Amino acid sequence: MSDALYDLTLVVPCYNEADNIPLFYKTATECFEQAGVGIEIVFVNDGSQDGTAQLLRRVVESARGKHAVQAIDFSRNFGKESALYAGMQAARGNNICLIDADMQQTPHDALRMYHLLMENADVDCVAACQVDRKEGFVLKLFKRAFYRTFNGMADDISIPANVSDFRVFRRPVRDALLALPERERFSKGLFAWIGFNTLEIPYEAEQRAA
Ligand code: UDP
Ligand code: MG
Repeated sequence: MSDALYDLTLVVPCYNEADNIPLFYKTATECFEQAGVGIEIVFVNDGSQDGTAQLLRRVVESARGKHAVQAIDFSRNFGKESALYAGMQAARGNNICLIDADMQQTPHDALRMYHLLMENADVDCVAACQVDRKEGFVLKLFKRAFYRTFNGMADDISIPANVSDFRVFRRPVRDALLALPERERFSKGLFAWIGFNTLEIPYEAEQRAA
């Protein structure tokens, strides 16, 4: 058995998300509490300029004794990949969920994915696959070209197109990700590289809350 303290850690990268964090926090804590799932939330402030750091300090303060919340504060903007890495390092849960702060990925869907993981002992990771992103035609074309080129070049692995880094996975998956020495990290590639049994579920991203 692992000595993890929580059922699930939500790792939330935040770059200028002060307007979204209160709603995210309220929705996530309520949703998992109702389901009887013990969560920890690790917010990572990735060098925001909009007061996200100060807001997160208040959230941590007001959560004391009620909810497990950590806030990691970067000295500048390092990018989402670095924020995810730091968040996973700090995570004390048996399972980890990578989720955005802007409510494009909802805590309710994260809960659904967590249940799927718990119900399927042979699955290590549940990954959300975007069925249709609400984004422009040109961006879509570029993305398709990227995956084609990447998968053409890489010999051993291929990255499923449309798979997002909205995921829920078991602690050994996190340990494998953290063991990789890469400095310039590209999560989708790393997830494909480490293997593990991944269940992809269709998912439609919401609009940013704020
Ligand atoms: N993010 C971050 N650092 C960055 C850019 C984004 O931590 O340099 C966070 C952002 O706050 C959000 C998540 O990463 O929680 C996804 O970012 P965004 O919503 O801009 O991306 P998209 O929805 O287009 O994938
Ligand atoms: Mg977003």
